[in-house]
Amino acid sequence: MAGETVLRIEGVEKAFGAVRALAGVDLEVGEGELVCFLGPSGCGKTTLLRIIAGLERADRGRIRFAGEVIDHRPPHRRGFGMVFQSLALFPHLDVAGNIAYPLRLRGMPERDQRARVRELLELVRLPGLERRRVHELSGGQRQRVALARALAAEPRLLLLDEPLSALDAKLREDMQVEVRLLQQRLGITTILVTHDQREAMTMADRVVVMNAGRIHQVGPPDAVYRRPQDRFVAAFLGRRNELEGVVEDARTVKVGAHRFTVPEGPLPPPGAPVWLVIRPEKVVLSSGGEEGANLLRGRVVFVRDVGESVEVFVDCGELGQQLVVVPSSHQPALATGAPVALRWPEEAIVALTA
Ligand code: ATP
Repeated sequence: MAGETVLRIEGVEKAFGAVRALAGVDLEVGEGELVCFLGPSGCGKTTLLRIIAGLERADRGRIRFAGEVIDHRPPHRRGFGMVFQSLALFPHLDVAGNIAYPLRLRGMPERDQRARVRELLELVRLPGLERRRVHELSGGQRQRVALARALAAEPRLLLLDEPLSALDAKLREDMQVEVRLLQQRLGITTILVTHDQREAMTMADRVVVMNAGRIHQVGPPDAVYRRPQDRFVAAFLGRRNELEGVVEDARTVKVGAHRFTVPEGPLPPPGAPVWLVIRPEKVVLSSGGEEGANLLRGRVVFVRDVGESVEVFVDCGELGQQLVVVPSSHQPALATGAPVALRWPEEAIVALTA
């Protein structure tokens, strides 16, 4: 975690009738950090964000900001900036009116408001657009105006709830980088809610993977991707191959008739079920003549070549399952039907017990 802890979430629980939206959440966020809440629809990420914002009250637990318990403080007295999926810009106001809104509420003199709006429009790369109406802006421009409005009052914490989800894919990817650069430049502590793992991995210092009201894993994007702690995390972050097997001894797992050597580390006792996770880009494909450990044979069933990346789907008949491989660029092109051997370095395997 970068910086000193500024936000502390302690044992937060929340139910809506019979629905347990949050089932006991603990988390610390460091000063200047960008943390992503990542998880499928309904996992509780928006509820947690709304509790931090003060728009919802937790049934149990506490939120501390800069050392103070803030649960009883109303949203407008928390000093946080927010951008929601809907953006909630005021259609009857122009760009300047929207951005200056929180400044007006604070009673800032008009001249200062104008100067601050100009500065914010520079910051979000929309200089000179003060007089435009909201409906005269593109999706990306609207997004930037919402961000400028959230930043106007120099918030101590920026809360972003899927603010990019209405944008088309290309613009969305550009905005991810832009927002991240801006956040780093300002050094503003930020929480971003998303269900898009690419977005989380692009933007976050740390990713908080959630499911069914619980945090499954917290860590830097590459650590969460490479070392998932459980099958849910492995499945939610990117593509993976999963082989179900049984522990044979401290370093060997049997999958069907195959034995795989796994890296050193705690494994359950012999006979216990275990799942081996191998990322597609760790698998090395060859034309099939090889022998050795950690090797499977199969046949190419489909090649998805979208220009910037290639995925090869291989039917491993002997295991009765399909594996996906992202070959490195120097591997030869493979045709559907081609026999192949799949192999991976031992350290590419993550053995999971749940
Ligand atoms: P999404 O990505 O779809 O926004 P989410 O992870 O943000 O999902 P939440 O919005 O936090 O999930 O919802 C968590 C659970 O709580 C869901 O089952 C949801 O239906 C329920 N829930 C959220 N808000 C309310 C509410 N005001 N009344 C009743 N149930 C609610």
